[in-house]
Amino acid sequence: ALLITSECINCDVCEPECPNQAISMGEEFYVIDPERCTECVGHFGEPQCVQVCPVECIPLNPDHVESPEQLMAKYERLQKTA
Ligand code: SF4
Ligand code: SF4
Repeated sequence: ALLITSECINCDVCEPECPNQAISMGEEFYVIDPERCTECVGHFGEPQCVQVCPVECIPLNPDHVESPEQLMAKYERLQKTA
């Protein structure tokens, strides 16, 4: 999963781009739910939020490092519960 750092300027552009509804407004800035972020695996070749973020504040979440297989399994799990 990816995460949003405090450099986020709350510009709102990433939220509608996420195919997994993983992004929402947190207490001070936007946050990514690691249970829903597949790094866009299953939907797109590149993380869509990273593509649109104007301040490049969306790195990998070091507490949620996942393999491509794990990300694909998460994608499939989310499809079933959608
Ligand atoms: Fe959503 Fe993809 Fe960004 Fe993860 S990488 S938060 S799935 S847009
Ligand atoms: Fe924050 Fe970047 Fe999302 Fe804008 S695109 S709300 S700056 S994380």
